[in-house]
Amino acid sequence: MILKRLLPAVGALLTVMCAGAVTLRYYPYELKLCHTFNLATMSRTSTPGVQVELTVDSVTGYGEASMPPYLGESVESVTAFLSKIDPERLSDPFALEDIHRYLDSLAPGNHAAKAAVDIALHDLTGKMMGRPWYQIYGLNPAKAPCTSFTISNDTPEELERKIAEAEPYKIIKVKMGVPGDRELIETIRRHTDKPLCVDVNQGWKTPQEALDNILWLADRGVVFVEQPLSKYDMDGHAWLKERSPLPIIADEAVQTSADVPELARCYDGINIKLMKCGGLHDAYKMAVLARALGMKVMIGCMTETSCAVSAAAQLAPMAEWVDLDGNLLIANDLFDGMKIVNGRVTLSSQPGIGVRPRREEVAH
Ligand code: MG
Repeated sequence: MILKRLLPAVGALLTVMCAGAVTLRYYPYELKLCHTFNLATMSRTSTPGVQVELTVDSVTGYGEASMPPYLGESVESVTAFLSKIDPERLSDPFALEDIHRYLDSLAPGNHAAKAAVDIALHDLTGKMMGRPWYQIYGLNPAKAPCTSFTISNDTPEELERKIAEAEPYKIIKVKMGVPGDRELIETIRRHTDKPLCVDVNQGWKTPQEALDNILWLADRGVVFVEQPLSKYDMDGHAWLKERSPLPIIADEAVQTSADVPELARCYDGINIKLMKCGGLHDAYKMAVLARALGMKVMIGCMTETSCAVSAAAQLAPMAEWVDLDGNLLIANDLFDGMKIVNGRVTLSSQPGIGVRPRREEVAH
């Protein structure tokens, strides 16, 4: 049975699909960014998202899809994918391997849509077991690292304000590969000596240009460089990895666990994001695989509410670095979950993915 109605609190159309003891609900939810987000290729002020709620035997799990435009998914594609799901096929929420195979059989790709279902399943099963997922994975929450906080380039006055805003965070992430990026590093260095990590978003054109920049950055307290060259330039990254004094981390070049083995030659580590790999089920496999291949693990996120960020944070104790500031960058979070305390990822002891809805209207 499929029902649709308007959600007054968020002004979005809620779709409800029921079969037996299973109810799958979803609605679009636009994430409003606190500041304009400037990347090498574009800038934007909001991110489209879809919120998912899955109820089985009266227990509800929350999930979320976040769709930054460069990944190719949209509210339309995510809701179209979700509408194909037969809720009956989710009636045993512990059968994650079978459910993922079923989701993959509905359509290839659609990783954010699949992540939304996967996150809700993890929240649900964790609640049924009465345990948070970091505990089910056997991880020590005290080993979760500090998160970086992203500062994008801006006018000198705005930059000063952003640097002050980053005060509680121990590591600052800077987007490079845009005009004026060295000046940005110099400006930040005039205000703070905190470690920096640099994300180039494929913005440098040749391996030599990347190496020149990395040697310059190595003298300025930078701890690693993310995706310096085009994701297609495997040989360029392999050349760079041999010469770079800083670890080179793959982001755009890695989506799922299937990508990891061939990247070990070209990168020192991978940035795992739930919206790229389809959720926690594959993200955990990626982290284990990277470790086995001697690679470093970074856990990242898109701009997301505390729902998807708290799900990703369950894996934080497996990572050298985490970039889990997505919920801090939005002005309309729907959930309370993972917190950053003294710059460190601090996991909630709540079962599942450790979130609670902020609005009554989220919990129907
Ligand atoms: Mg990145």
